[in-house]
Formats: sequence, structure tokens, C-alpha cells
Amino acid sequence: MDCNEARRLVPISIDCELDAQGEAALAAHVESCAACRAFRHQQEEALAAIHDGATYHRAPTSLRERIVTALPATDQRHKVIERKFGWQLWTRISAMAVACAALVLVLVLPRLSIDERLDDELVAGHARALLTRHVIDIASSDQHTVKPWFNGKVDFSPPVRDLADHGFPLVGGRLDYVDHHLVAVAVYQRRQHLIDVFIWPADGADNANAKPSTSQGYHVIGKTVNGMIFRAVSDVGSDELSQFVDLL
Ligand SMILES: [Zn+2]
Repeated sequence: MDCNEARRLVPISIDCELDAQGEAALAAHVESCAACRAFRHQQEEALAAIHDGATYHRAPTSLRERIVTALPATDQRHKVIERKFGWQLWTRISAMAVACAALVLVLVLPRLSIDERLDDELVAGHARALLTRHVIDIASSDQHTVKPWFNGKVDFSPPVRDLADHGFPLVGGRLDYVDHHLVAVAVYQRRQHLIDVFIWPADGADNANAKPSTSQGYHVIGKTVNGMIFRAVSDVGSDELSQFVDLL
């Protein structure tokens, strides 16, 4: 099993929906791979944070009935679906509603400066990735694998460098959409924390080095180098994040 496969299976395993063979293979990989072990730990923590911190609202019975009725299934399958997925479905719908509400708040909040709005978007992107468990599209600690992966997906070449020697190993990359830009995201790790580095070309207006900010417990620190904007988002300490940004 490779890291990409392991990371696909971790959320399924956490939901107790992985079969015994899959669990055994995943356990063997996680046992031998520190990055995937950290990934699993971080996913479990994110889930626990949602369980502990999110507000839950019971959906009306009529909605439940409408969804169950809409499912193309026999009476027997209705029972199985209700028994097996009943509470998980509602937990997920609630979590998605919370995420959507947070996103709407971010998008419609008036009177924020452009920088503040951008930072809120970046934090929302980071939180959305953690919530939906879509943190990484390409899992690799090799900059020569992650950097070319962006070719053809974005119309610029994001500088990606492994910083494992400095205690910030590269763990992969993904795409995101921020401020009307399709952006590259290089994902790094610091102990059990993930650091997202959003990268896109500067186009004059946003050349200024943004001031560090903190929102919803996440720090955002940015800089512009050689016409490329870097903004790092993470819940690591702001000192560590600023040390990390200096290395970029
Ligand atoms: Zn691995």
C-alpha cells in the first residue's frame, strides 16, 4: 500500500467502514510510515474537534422521510440504510451545513479590507480541506514529484521545496480556488499540525507583503517573492509559522 492509498482509506477506517483486510493493510502501512501516522492522528483530532465544537440541530422528521423516500431502494434496503447510516448521515449533513454557513459568512461579511477578506478565504480553504478530509491530491515528500504534478493544472510553476531538514517536511499538494484564482497548495507538516501554503502569481495589486493575521485559531502569514505570492495557513504557533515562511 502506498501513501496515496493509505490516505484515501484513513477516513473510511475512522468511520469504521473499512473491511478487516483493508484495516490490516492500512495498519501495517501506518505502523511503518510516520507521515501517514501523523495524518491519521490529525484526521482523528479534526473529527473530535467537530464532534466537541460543532452545534448540532436535529433535522425535521419530514426531511428525513423525504430523503429516505427519494432513495431508490426496497423496503428491506430502507431498513438497512436507516440502521447503518442513519446517525452518520445526519452528523454529516449537520457538519456540511456548519461548513456552508461558515463559508457564506466569509463571503458576505461586509466592511472587511481586501487583505482580511483574502485571509478569511484562505482560512476557510484550509478548514474546508480539513473538514472534508481533502487535504492532499498528491501525497509525496519529494519536491520533484509534487512540483511537476501542478503542470497543466495551473498556468504557472509553483516553487515547491521540501523543508524536512528544517523540521517542516513536505507531505504533498492539492489545488484550491481563492480570490478568483486557481491556486497551488503545497502541504507541509510540523509535528501533528498541517501547514497549507497557497501559491499564485502576483498581479500588481496584491504585491504587497500581507500583514500576519489570525482567524478562528489559524494564523496566516504571507510574503511575495519573485512575483509569486505565498500565504501559509496553520494552527501551529505564529512564531513557528513565521520561521517557516522565512524558509520559503
Ligand atoms: Zn504513508
